[in-house]
Amino acid sequence: MEQLVQAAEAVIRSGRYINGQYLGRFEAAMQQRLGAPFCIGVSTGLDALRLILQACIELGRLKPGDEVIIPANTFIATFLAVTHCGLTAVAADVEEDTFCLDYDRLPLSPATKAIIPVHLFGRVCLDEAEARKLREKGLIIIEDCAQAIGAKTPAGISGENMMAGTLADAAAISFYPAKNVGALGDAGAVLTADPLLAKTVRQLANYGAEEKYRHTLCGFNCRMDELQAAMLLPKLEKLDEVGNRRRERASLYNSLISNPDIILPHEPDFPESHVWHQYVVRHPRRDALRRHLQSKGVGTEIHYPVPCHLQECYKGHPLLKTPSPLPVAERLAEEILSLPIADVSQSDIREIADIINSF
Ligand SMILES: *Cc1c(COP(=O)(O)O)cnc(C)c1O
Repeated sequence: MEQLVQAAEAVIRSGRYINGQYLGRFEAAMQQRLGAPFCIGVSTGLDALRLILQACIELGRLKPGDEVIIPANTFIATFLAVTHCGLTAVAADVEEDTFCLDYDRLPLSPATKAIIPVHLFGRVCLDEAEARKLREKGLIIIEDCAQAIGAKTPAGISGENMMAGTLADAAAISFYPAKNVGALGDAGAVLTADPLLAKTVRQLANYGAEEKYRHTLCGFNCRMDELQAAMLLPKLEKLDEVGNRRRERASLYNSLISNPDIILPHEPDFPESHVWHQYVVRHPRRDALRRHLQSKGVGTEIHYPVPCHLQECYKGHPLLKTPSPLPVAERLAEEILSLPIADVSQSDIREIADIINSF
């Protein structure tokens, strides 16, 4: 708290609120911390995704009508970014135990040009080997890393543990307040190793200006402001701590919940590949369990109750395609329940597990 107040005060006293030194410092810290050659601080996670896609369009790598594969069970922002850019969103089914894209059953077509794996709930769902296979299919890969900042892959082809957000052509990060690293408002970031993509994203985010008042692209205003950058800086230092704490809580839940009707979330063999943005159990009578927990004062959430391809806004939408049935994503939406993980003590977790076990 004190650190945040000091950071905010420093910005207020600086008199510079946009494109100042704190944004630069924050971007440098992100690059260093995550091992990404370029980081561009932007306004939101949605804008981060949209800017990456729009930059691909400006660079001639994507064009309107191209198909982009997205898991159906993500937050709506992943789909919106694609359709806002005039690209076709193709909803894909997911794997039961990881909640992530099922790479063996991708709805590929000759028009498929890109794919957006979503590291849902904080679990890395892409590795170097899978990224290589997708690249060999000629696809542009964009990680939706909104929920997984700080997660690492098991050692892969290169023998290294790669940070989520550094596996693909580019990645979008969100600092929405409830995310693992949260701003005091909206903020996001783009990560990439591609200098041309980085330059184009930065330019698009700043009115398309190549230099001041010289607009070579029709850009947007999607900048991260100095206040958010300054307040995120100290939070970035606690990245590992956040992951460790959430992993401990998830393990504790998994060891204490013994209700036979509950399907526990799968803990990966390499624990650091999950930062547990959400802790999600499954139960065949999910709504009744949720009411039971609510009656005992335990608030829960459902991420997400309606898969994106079934959302009202995409009914009959010309840019939404669902080429095959998505039974797993649709069933998961009926069964999943997110238990509190952000601010719970060990004794809270014991109490919540008891309430679930007695249901
Ligand atoms: C939060 C989130 C976003 C969007 O981030 P905002 O900063 O809220 O715009 C995108 N994708 C996923 C998976 C998210 O969880």
